[in-house]
Amino acid sequence: MSLIVQKFGGSSVEDAAGIKRVANRIVETRKAGHDVVVVVSAMGDTTDDLLELAHEIVDDPAPRELDMLLTAGERISMALLAMAIKDMDVEARSFTGSQAGMQTDAAHGSARIVDVNPKRIKDALDDGSVAIVAGFQGFNRNTGDITTLGRGGSDTTAVALAAALHADVCEIYTDVDGIYTSDPRIVHTAKKIDVISAEEMLELAAHGAKVLYIRAVEFARRYGVEIHVRSSFSHAEGTRILQNPYGDKVEEPIVAGLASDTSEAKVTVLGVPNVPGKAAEIFRLVASVKANLDMIVQNLSGEDDGRTDISFTLPKSEAKSVIDLLSANRGEIGHLGISHDDNIGKLSLVGSGMRSHAGVSATFFTALAEAGINVEMISTSEIRISIVTRADQLATALRAVHSAFELDSDVEAIVHAGTGR
Ligand code: ASP
Ligand code: MG
Repeated sequence: MSLIVQKFGGSSVEDAAGIKRVANRIVETRKAGHDVVVVVSAMGDTTDDLLELAHEIVDDPAPRELDMLLTAGERISMALLAMAIKDMDVEARSFTGSQAGMQTDAAHGSARIVDVNPKRIKDALDDGSVAIVAGFQGFNRNTGDITTLGRGGSDTTAVALAAALHADVCEIYTDVDGIYTSDPRIVHTAKKIDVISAEEMLELAAHGAKVLYIRAVEFARRYGVEIHVRSSFSHAEGTRILQNPYGDKVEEPIVAGLASDTSEAKVTVLGVPNVPGKAAEIFRLVASVKANLDMIVQNLSGEDDGRTDISFTLPKSEAKSVIDLLSANRGEIGHLGISHDDNIGKLSLVGSGMRSHAGVSATFFTALAEAGINVEMISTSEIRISIVTRADQLATALRAVHSAFELDSDVEAIVHAGTGR
């Protein structure tokens, strides 16, 4: 008998039929003799709908009230799920984030978990009950207020609970069969990955793989939680995310997979005086609006005029405030202008085998060249190579690199439902 945390996303509990199907799945696990803690997201697009509603009423909803509103979504699904399970003659009790002991800091909308005291969850398990916990929410001890963990935060709730309860595994149920070597909606020959290291998964998630949220993976890595990503629509084995899956005996694969991202924009500060301290000035300003920079590239500008262009990428939604700020400080920085490009796509190749295998970059760039892809920016880590290209070339680029590393499967990937989240 083991203790299993099962997390079900919004697309798995989209409607009454979905809730009953998920309840069935939980009851199966319980009847197999396991202790089960369930973390559930809001039904379907509930969170988006509530957000829209708030914005129909006011332009700038108060963060505290927005968290009160959004946490209602998970309360609905947790209660309905508990009812469905009880109807199958299995004991179940639902708990809000605060009842489950999810303590967070006070940052409404993006709170961080600071401690988990799942006393009531343990009591429920001791009583033989399934415990259902609302994902994505917690409370702050000092303010006494309800908080949310940021979009997609239910994954983090599940992993944090699994860590606090020393669960044997944290199963993340979603609408695909696991983690794929690339987004199966774009690369139809993408292959399901059986095991992947937490380190590789962190890189994939950080560079656009949407199947798992980065903070959840960070948490799992820090506390050694085993994650099993699998489909709620089938019983197939999904993908296991382990700390050290390749061991000593098994040869590690050179590359694990590819991530893609079209959520970023590129900003170029043109004609920056090429003297010490200018980059520092620019990035201090960028940091002051808490922009999340990704890649940074500096090029000498065409003419020999003592000037340079500095480009960086950041989430599209953050570009405007950064550009406004840099423009307002043009007098001090002395740059000639700013250009802004929303039509970029980023492709990242990830694999821990890159550390020990030469020639990965050669294969990668050859594949891109043969597919006629123009590379605009490059960045690397020990286990990753990323490039930026035109957004409309991204799919072609992904397919080319995917084939070059022989990741293609003969069977087409099954996508059961949903939108990738
Ligand atoms: N319902 C929240 C959201 O849509 C949390 C989650 O789904 O994990 O972001
Ligand atoms: Mg959701």
